[in-house]
Amino acid sequence: MSTPTIGVLALQGDVREHLVALAAADALARPVRRPEELAEVDALVMPGGESTTISKLAVLFGLMEPLRERVAAGMPVYGTCAGMIMLADKILDGRDDQETVGGIDMTVRRNAFGRQNESFETAIPFAGLAGDPVTGVFIRAPWVEAVGAGVEVLAEVPAADGPDARIVAVRQGNLLATSFHPELTGDHRVHEYFVRMVEAAAR
Ligand code: GLN
Repeated sequence: MSTPTIGVLALQGDVREHLVALAAADALARPVRRPEELAEVDALVMPGGESTTISKLAVLFGLMEPLRERVAAGMPVYGTCAGMIMLADKILDGRDDQETVGGIDMTVRRNAFGRQNESFETAIPFAGLAGDPVTGVFIRAPWVEAVGAGVEVLAEVPAADGPDARIVAVRQGNLLATSFHPELTGDHRVHEYFVRMVEAAAR
């Protein structure tokens, strides 16, 4: 098939890093700020940043409903960190009026790792990726506290307390989410994995 066009939601956050990583993964990448721009892309990345701000701006820019419609229609979306929060059907420790796009049947806790450790890096085995573990960069990161039956867990990290492990990467259908930021590492395998998802969805 022809090279997929993948948008990066460019309201706030680390947009540029995702544009670079997607280009390195052989996608045509472009920023999306308006509903007209969303209509022109095959798939979307929602970047890391501040989910309360991204959510507020998505409502302000008239993108929240179009985003929900595209997700319901099967558009592939990859969310990192704040973007993972945006893909969650349910969030904990959000702001009272914080809306999400939703789509993944999961409960995500905001800033979950932040209380113990503002920011850290760790090697994480990632299901479906050959080779070395990925380097997980966590920056005031959320974790996934619960998933529904249709959600595939792709990566976990050992937990300091509570359960044995915390879920940090999931997939449900055409939706992919990670607590961490592969766009900051120079290792483009997770973006390549997403580009393959987008290609498969187009067939
Ligand atoms: N703590 C941020 C939030 O709630 C997410 C942090 C990030 O994207 N690096 O949106």
